[in-house]
Amino acid sequence: MNALNRLAELFGKLPGIGPRQAKRFVYYLLQSPPAMRKEMAELIEGLSKEVRQCELCYRFYTTESSNSKRCAICANEARETESLMVVEKDVDIDAIERSGSYKGLYFVLGGIIPVLESKKGLARTKELLRAVDARKPKEIILALSLTTDGEHTSDQLRELLHPLAEKQSSKLSVLGRGLSTGSELEYADPETIKSALKGRG
Ligand SMILES: [Zn+2]
Repeated sequence: MNALNRLAELFGKLPGIGPRQAKRFVYYLLQSPPAMRKEMAELIEGLSKEVRQCELCYRFYTTESSNSKRCAICANEARETESLMVVEKDVDIDAIERSGSYKGLYFVLGGIIPVLESKKGLARTKELLRAVDARKPKEIILALSLTTDGEHTSDQLRELLHPLAEKQSSKLSVLGRGLSTGSELEYADPETIKSALKGRG
């Protein structure tokens, strides 16, 4: 395979990118200044060196924002440790943080539990159980997208976490209405997130 096709194939693996769009990226890059291509290539190469995964919440962070094994949120002592919010991916944390209405900690599931078995589930369920067991939060908030897979994941997690939550008297809640059906958390605006948090139960 030649370099152009291979690069298009790799772009095509990015979320939401189809083969045609992937080709457009390649042609766009060909027309862009060499300095931009170089910077991109270097940044991509540096990802494994300068980006770590938090040992507590599994979120990715750059070593310049925190030099410990924990991300800036987990390392921040001002955060409220009694609540733990479970989200699907890193960008969901950004959306919640933008709303400014949550001061607790997070856990990044890293994927969903798909309704169809043919789809691959990548959710860190074992790690989540371990985190809940170790941190004993007073409240566990499930903040998955209101999509079919997101809701299925939420139901499965409720079942999975129920015995442990009961044992350590943690309240299990789910983000409330406000988020419309089919909506992805990462695209929700701050006001919507605020009211979804208020309406949790
Ligand atoms: Zn963290």
